[in-house]
Amino acid sequence: MKDGAERLVVDASRVASEGDVLEGEIDCVDIDEEFVHPFGGVRYRLEVKVFGTELLVRGRLEQDFDLVCSRCGKDFDDTVKVEDFTISYEIDEKSPEVDLTEDVREGIILALPSFPVCSEECPGVEQKSAEPGDERWNALDGLNFGG
Ligand SMILES: [Zn+2]
Repeated sequence: MKDGAERLVVDASRVASEGDVLEGEIDCVDIDEEFVHPFGGVRYRLEVKVFGTELLVRGRLEQDFDLVCSRCGKDFDDTVKVEDFTISYEIDEKSPEVDLTEDVREGIILALPSFPVCSEECPGVEQKSAEPGDERWNALDGLNFGG
């Protein structure tokens, strides 16, 4: 987690008894990998509700990524979505503030594809090996590599 990264904190003592909806964007996914670059923040729409000593959170998350296709190696953009983000926290009167940031970040990271593919039809890397009968390769047959 970067210093000064944004945080998504809910004060359970301020959540309306019928529940609240939190909507916004939080820049908290700081993956630094060669093939995975988040851009923008996590867009979230979460319903929060207090049940006794629990804060229940449910909703959806979205984060845009610049990814590298695991088949063809091209860059492409994709949006990682978590449609059913669900989590609960124990709360008490002394510590009604709940920090959702780490769990939101983790929800997005878990939803990332292990092998991103630019499209279902991606043909993969073009075969670079020579066709049989390619004249350039035939020409090599005539060379003598021996000392
Ligand atoms: Zn591809």
